[in-house]
Amino acid sequence: MTRIELVEGDITHEHVDAIVNAANATLLGGGGVDGAIHRRGGETILDACRDLRRERYPEGLPVGEAVATTAGDLPARWVIHTVGPVYRRERDPASLLARCHLACLRVADELGAATVAFPAISTGAYGYPVREAAAVAIDAVQDAETKVDEVRFVLFGREAYRAFDEALETG
Ligand code: ADP
Repeated sequence: MTRIELVEGDITHEHVDAIVNAANATLLGGGGVDGAIHRRGGETILDACRDLRRERYPEGLPVGEAVATTAGDLPARWVIHTVGPVYRRERDPASLLARCHLACLRVADELGAATVAFPAISTGAYGYPVREAAAVAIDAVQDAETKVDEVRFVLFGREAYRAFDEALETG
């Protein structure tokens, strides 16, 4: 069974094997958590992302998929990049958001990562209502078949923390 922990804070400070980045399809950085990870993690993450674009994802990383790079100067060992759904653009954003979480856990298993920190994917610039996203994220992780021991949701701000806390209690 995977243990689920909730933390209010900044994911770039987490001492876990892997942190998840709510990236965009370009993999070349952006705002929000993506910007913070590249800023604190340094240039080696961006270099690795450029290589991935060239070698594996010339058209960008599709929504719902995940791929790992070094974590550069961050305390984590790896960054697992995933692209969440833009809430208003998708017919079924929930299944895509669930797929992001499962894809990240699959990559974590391949890496041998035992502890993984997730941000609240899609709930910033991509407009996913945080309470809805919290329910989907918690369900996906609870139902996942994975060797990951601990998933830590690192929530930026009180509102996001509360939403995940409620989803964990009611889920
Ligand atoms: P998306 O484009 O997937 O919506 P964002 O980065 O805009 O991604 O937002 C996703 C969530 O990450 C939001 O809830 C936002 O408040 C949160 N966030 C932003 N910076 C950080 C950070 N440094 N650590 C953890 N969460 C963060």
